[in-house]
Amino acid sequence: MSVLQDNIAKARGYMQPLVDTGVLNHIDGATVPARSGAVMETISPVDGSVLAQVAKSGAEDIDAAVAAAKTAFPGWSKIPGAERRKILIKVAEAIEARAEEIAFTECMDTGQALRFMSKAAIRGAANFRFFADQAPGAEDGMVKRTPTQMNTTSRRPIGPVGVITPWNTPFMLSTWKIAPALAAGCTVVHKPAEFSPMTAKLLVEIAESAGLPKGVLNVVNGLGETAGKRLTEHPDIRAIAFVGESKTGSMIMKQGADTLKRVHFELGGKNPVIVFDDADLDRAVDAAVFMIYSLNGERCTSSSRLLVQASVYDAVTAKVAEAAARIRIGHPLDPETVVGPLIHPVHEQKVLSYFDTARAEGATIATGGEKVGTEGCYVAPTLFTNATADMAISQEEIFGPVLTAISFETEEEALAIANGTDYGLSAYLWTNDLGRAMRMTDALEAGMMWVNSENIRHLPTPFGGVKASGIGRDGGDWSFDFYMETVNVSFPRTEHRIPKLGG
Ligand code: NAD
Repeated sequence: MSVLQDNIAKARGYMQPLVDTGVLNHIDGATVPARSGAVMETISPVDGSVLAQVAKSGAEDIDAAVAAAKTAFPGWSKIPGAERRKILIKVAEAIEARAEEIAFTECMDTGQALRFMSKAAIRGAANFRFFADQAPGAEDGMVKRTPTQMNTTSRRPIGPVGVITPWNTPFMLSTWKIAPALAAGCTVVHKPAEFSPMTAKLLVEIAESAGLPKGVLNVVNGLGETAGKRLTEHPDIRAIAFVGESKTGSMIMKQGADTLKRVHFELGGKNPVIVFDDADLDRAVDAAVFMIYSLNGERCTSSSRLLVQASVYDAVTAKVAEAAARIRIGHPLDPETVVGPLIHPVHEQKVLSYFDTARAEGATIATGGEKVGTEGCYVAPTLFTNATADMAISQEEIFGPVLTAISFETEEEALAIANGTDYGLSAYLWTNDLGRAMRMTDALEAGMMWVNSENIRHLPTPFGGVKASGIGRDGGDWSFDFYMETVNVSFPRTEHRIPKLGG
């Protein structure tokens, strides 16, 4: 049996329990179907076959999950941080113990290649460890003294929160939101993306088997416009942590307005990688290729716009095109695969439509630009050249293995093009001129920038975007600021004079 066949057989084994029962909801420690009995399907992007039936929940299921999270909140939030830490470290260990199962299931449900997904569970576990370690100090604050008063600040968990996640790298992304919420003492209702529900069910089962009390983490599957909407509107949900498209973020903000929801948004991007002619061009090419074609380009921080100084534009784009053409496309469970199938035929159609857009706009398709094979959602790694900054292919988030290359002459022009979109998530800058790096990073409109590097994530640093790419920051202590309320208590230091009125 080949490695691929062996992996497929293993994946089927791992997924069988979810196939047998269906991907049901998990509310108050129990696995339950949608109250209406309704189901939807999750399909394999490899060949369109049905992987499992999934609970298609409605408002009543969200209400039950929120009630469980509300009931569990006083207990969980009062457990000392050091105890919460112990439980969450056990969750991390339990995730690591089932890393292969999580990775294989994620590959089958999302089409992401195993070479990247094999680390998804490990990174998820790292998220739990990192935030677990901060739980004991999460309530800490500061003292601000005046001659008469001593002000002490502290933080307390905000309450039950909603976490709404997208379909790209769903396991890792969910832990990125759920781990700090739990470490802060919040309870959670998680609504996973309808295209990729399988590993969310694994996460809650793993967490409870490791000792997370029932009701602390609840999972409700369903459509965004019904189940997701109800979660954002529910009066007992204090905050919504959302990762997804910018236009969905905007809807959630409206939906949450009546109940004054606190929101944290990680949204779309059209991130530039800017290459000056003084840069190490080979490293720049490797990084640009990695950042757009890894994870199928279905990555919020992908470098989807390649801005190259005119003097080296032809050389750089030729190298990118060569590398893109050599990229191995294949089954997500084949260890050699770099680009697997896109998540779903609906998304595949969106990505394919940009090939016609590019042609209509007058750009050149230097490589790719077509569907691969007849079965499954396979799309060739693509490079558009001779693009201009105003084209749709330069402005809109395509969210696939598709790169748009634009040429520039000067620093000012590079900056104007880089900042000339609605988005502002990440930016990548390649130059060996320190002054230029300082000037550019001072003026680039992005929440995260990497100089002479691809995206290398360090959990204590802030993660998030500006403009239409998001509101708020994750990582470090920033996550706790979102999931907790800061309160101030003031004590008198002297018997100061209190103004007497009316006497
Ligand atoms: P999406 O916005 O379509 O869906 C995300 C989630 O929101 C899903 O669970 C969906 O069911 C839910 N949803 C949809 N409508 C809703 C509504 N009215 N109320 C409540 N919930 C609703 O996004 P997607 O297509 O699943 O994911 C891709 C997007 O996510 C891309 O734009 C990508 O850039 C973005 N993303 C951003 C980051 C980041 O950190 N900035 C990370 C990953 C993905």
